[in-house]
This record gives sequence, C-alpha cells and structure tokens, in this order.
Amino acid sequence: MIGRGIGYGKPKGTLGMRPLIAGNWKMNGLSASLAEVAELARALETQPANVDVLVCPPFTLLTAAVAAARNRMGIGAQTCHASPSGAHTGDVSAEMIKDAGGVAVIVGHSERRQGYGETDADVAAKVRAAWRAGLHPIICVGETEAEHDAGHTLDVVKTQLGGSLPASAGPMSATVAYEPIWAIGSGRTPSHEEIAGVHHHIRKSLETLVGPAAAGVRILYGGSVKPANAAAILAIRDVDGALVGGASLKAAEFLPIIEARS
Ligand code: PEP
Repeated sequence: MIGRGIGYGKPKGTLGMRPLIAGNWKMNGLSASLAEVAELARALETQPANVDVLVCPPFTLLTAAVAAARNRMGIGAQTCHASPSGAHTGDVSAEMIKDAGGVAVIVGHSERRQGYGETDADVAAKVRAAWRAGLHPIICVGETEAEHDAGHTLDVVKTQLGGSLPASAGPMSATVAYEPIWAIGSGRTPSHEEIAGVHHHIRKSLETLVGPAAAGVRILYGGSVKPANAAAILAIRDVDGALVGGASLKAAEFLPIIEARS
C-alpha cells in the first residue's frame, strides 16, 4: 500500500468500503502534465485521508508521476502484458510497472477490448500477472449501447466478470470498474437506478465467483463522471468509488470529484 493506498477495500462502518477515486489519463499527458499530479498531491495534504486516490498516466510518465505524487496518492498503469519479460516488442510487464513505483494496473478497459481484441481470457491472464508482480488490478467490465438497449447489460457484465476474474481462495486484492461503453466520454450516464442495479448484480456475481472474498472487492462506476454528477453517483448504494477519464486530466476538475466522496 502506498500513501493513501489502494489495497483491500477497508470496511467503513456499515456504509461499505473506503472509496477509491481513480483517474485514467489514457494516451494523454506530456511531462508538463506532471504539474497536475504535483498540484493534486499538494491539495491532498489538507484533505481527510478517507478516500484512496490513484492516477494512471501513460507509461512514459510513470516514474516521474510517482515522484510528483509524494506518497499522497497511488500511481498506476493502464494495461500490462501477461508475461514478466520476453520478446514482446512495445509491451510493458506488470513487474516493470511495479519496478517503476506503480501500485495498480487497469485491465480490460473497453478501449483495449475493442481496439486490441483483448478477450476475457487475456484480461484474466493480466490479472494473474498483476498479482504475481504485487500490483492491484482494476478490472473493467461494461456493455455496448446495443447490448444496453437490448436489455442484456446484466448478462454481459456477469459473463465478462466470470471470464476476467481468476478464482481466488483468500482475500482478494482487486477492484472491479463498471464502465458502460456508451457512457465513456459521451457525457451520458445510466440512471442512478440502473447503476445501483448493475453494481448490486456485480456484488452478487462476485459472491458466486469468489465467495467471501467478494466483500473486499471495490466496485467503481466509470463513464462521464464529472464534478457536477460525482456526489450523486458516489452516493449510490454499492458504488465504492469512480474510474474517471477526461475529468482526471486536470487537478482542478479531478479534485472536486475526490472531495465529493471525502
Ligand atoms: C474511462 O475511459 O475509463 C472513462 C471513464 O472515461 P470518461 O470519464 O472520460 O468517460
């Protein structure tokens, strides 16, 4: 656990887990963007430490972001290769992310599933790689707009989860992010009832898949979370935090989202 950490979801009264607010910078950020991490770190010094914060910049900024974060937040990566090393030109292993100071890795983001054909089995292999290297995996699941409109959301999410999550006997260091693909970067979000329903379904599916370990898995919502809607989304039952794309790029936009749950 580093700084505010992102380890096992810690029980917090009867309200559920200590929340995690994670930022996914995607393919954005040059060295000048490290000022955003530094600003975030400065602001978090005066925040109550009751929320875990993670920023996932591109690989090129990983080491420098760890330094800029000054243990005020975790720094993670956006994907990893399943092998620890070898002839995989252009790839980065979980061990390399750990060595650079990363604490977590996003796996199975829809942009990887759709853009690179990553399957549930690929995602499960990356989760195992993350565990092998001592990283915390954030496993993304979510339906397309067509699947949503056809009423298949719960089936799609359950199938993705079953295929992407290796069985685990003990306490499990993992987070699940529910990210409806049609909500990512679109400014649209499901209704609060829909989010509550899907998160409850994910919790029940986790119980079937990994038994009591399910209680320690945080379930984040992702897809067009902004300062204006963060408080309402984060207050939904079974929502243990957020995975934030566009609004995580600037500290001035990301901070109000963190504060919405602090
Ligand atoms: C994401 O891609 O993980 C995401 C949630 O993006 P945005 O917040 O920009 O919708």
